[in-house]
Amino acid sequence: MPYKVTLKKGKEKLPMKHHPWVFSGAISSVEPGFAEGDWAEVYASDGRFIAHGWYDEKSHIILHLISWMKDSRMDDGFIRDLVLKSVERRNDLMRDQRTNALRLIHGEADFLPGVAADFYAEKIRIVISSRFGYHFLPVIASALQESMDPEIIEAVVDRSYAGSEGLKEGVRRFINGKETDKKFEVENDWVFLEDNLLYCIEPGCGQKTGFYCDQRDNRMIAERYAEGRTVLDLFSFTGGFTMHMLRGNCSSVTSVDSSAPALQQLLYHARENELQMLLPEGSADKITVVTDDCFSYLRSVKEDQYDMMILDPPKLAKTKGALENALKAYKDLNRVAMLKIRNGGIIATFSCSGALSREDFRMVLGWAATDAGVEIQILHSLSAGADHPVRLSFPESEYLKGFIIKVLKD
Ligand code: SAH
Repeated sequence: MPYKVTLKKGKEKLPMKHHPWVFSGAISSVEPGFAEGDWAEVYASDGRFIAHGWYDEKSHIILHLISWMKDSRMDDGFIRDLVLKSVERRNDLMRDQRTNALRLIHGEADFLPGVAADFYAEKIRIVISSRFGYHFLPVIASALQESMDPEIIEAVVDRSYAGSEGLKEGVRRFINGKETDKKFEVENDWVFLEDNLLYCIEPGCGQKTGFYCDQRDNRMIAERYAEGRTVLDLFSFTGGFTMHMLRGNCSSVTSVDSSAPALQQLLYHARENELQMLLPEGSADKITVVTDDCFSYLRSVKEDQYDMMILDPPKLAKTKGALENALKAYKDLNRVAMLKIRNGGIIATFSCSGALSREDFRMVLGWAATDAGVEIQILHSLSAGADHPVRLSFPESEYLKGFIIKVLKD
């Protein structure tokens, strides 16, 4: 029998609108005997049923709401169905022959809090950022096996949540849907295609997903502006945007990141794509890589040196509380880019902070333009691809927003 949890009066509005997060301050009472990590029936103060949720006192989000239908039967079978449905919703996207990397589960937006699963050509990588996800990992892995039949499933705990959620870091592997402790020291890199460009990720290490497939559509749009341009790709990571700049026939590209291994991988990607004739001959020779802090590197750049820039920083606002400082950081980064870029240049600028709304980000760009004394035109409003859906009742799922802008100085 699920336990009963009652919310405080005045704290029921968001849960009733299907927002999935309930923090401890919103809880009025919990039926005695509740163990850590168990199903809960969640009620409003007036006794109305709101939702079924997963209650876990050790999680920083103490209650995750999962189903708003009273007659849902909450058990492992329900989680399995959520996974199968999530994969099925992506059927339309799987027909694309040019891409075999895509997100199969996108956390709360697919009703599976703190669970991200990415498919990379026959292999799957799961990133867990909640106790809920950790608890149900075996069920999730087995359902992914059932629906996609991958060669291997690898699961890692997102390091930035391991502490707050009390989760053990490390890689867990599943073969044929069953967990295995078989060692994979010599496992080759996972190779996949995105928009007919080849990339690879190293298995069994690192965190997150190893590749950011949320930027797929945006890379394709940015490519249209590369022709003949001198490009600065800031926060380049392993070169998702850089490869597209090369295919779009940029005149040169400088790729900057604080991670030297990521830049090594970027160069490898360029050479491999050239070898496989997925990039024009001579592409790799157009790249300069710089291991540096992008904020200070941008300041050191000469004015008018570049006529296209890509700004794809990591999440600068980790929480709503950190928003004010993050607004300043986004503004500053964009202001300096606008100052340095050539008249008529193109900037593809992004924020992946869930706490920062699209409107706020536009406002920040407005402030930056005013301070830099330039006019900007928005050419494209960008977001994550369709495999990273935005669930309207969970606005935080619209975490990635971007704009391609033209900077006018005369
Ligand atoms: N544009 C990339 C994804 C960027 S992810 C792509 O298309 O794949 C963010 C990157 O920023 C990471 O590679 C991280 O190493 C890098 N990074 C974080 N802080 C940085 C800093 N202050 N200066 C330079 N790079 C930074």
